[in-house]
Amino acid sequence: MTIPICFMCRDNYDDLYKICSCFDSVLCRECLLITNNTNISRCPICRRNLKIKVITDKCIVTMEIFKKIFFILFYFGMSLSYPIYAYVKYNDKYHFYLFLSMFFVNIFVDRIIINKMSQEMIFSDKKLYTFKFITGYLSLLSIFFMKKNLADLMYFLVFIFIFYLLPITLISVLNYIDELKVVKEYIKNKSRTKFINYELVSNLSI
Ligand SMILES: [Zn+2]
Ligand SMILES: [Zn+2]
Repeated sequence: MTIPICFMCRDNYDDLYKICSCFDSVLCRECLLITNNTNISRCPICRRNLKIKVITDKCIVTMEIFKKIFFILFYFGMSLSYPIYAYVKYNDKYHFYLFLSMFFVNIFVDRIIINKMSQEMIFSDKKLYTFKFITGYLSLLSIFFMKKNLADLMYFLVFIFIFYLLPITLISVLNYIDELKVVKEYIKNKSRTKFINYELVSNLSI
């Protein structure tokens, strides 16, 4: 009778684990753990599809959901807290419309700008969010203690100009440069005709 051995380390163990229906597909515990971490889906011996059990760690799922919720609350809260505060304090339409606009911008525009910035300017999403969090919360510290006009100006400078208008301008300039290159190439291709360089040689002169 053949004694089964682990097909990876070729050692014999008391406990071996069969991962496929083929005869040799037995692994020791250590090799099974290593194989599991490589995300293989086919048997290394017979290439049959392996039966994969998916185990969901509910703790990790809950933690990740909480992380996302906290991120959204702090991120939205950063740019929406001043418009809400100012609307409650001064009860004017301007801050109400500012709140609505920033709410819309946060949900629908922000992600597009972050994506574009990370694609075209090689800033990672993480770096951009860190920059926004630090700049945003530091300026909020002073905005809440400023007089209305100065606070509005500061809010505009940081939360509208630096966070949105400046990146949009940079992205547009880069796009214009790309378009110019395309136009230049188009004109170049349209206006030039290739000719083999030649010299006229008449029979008389030879
Ligand atoms: Zn082994
Ligand atoms: Zn197999």
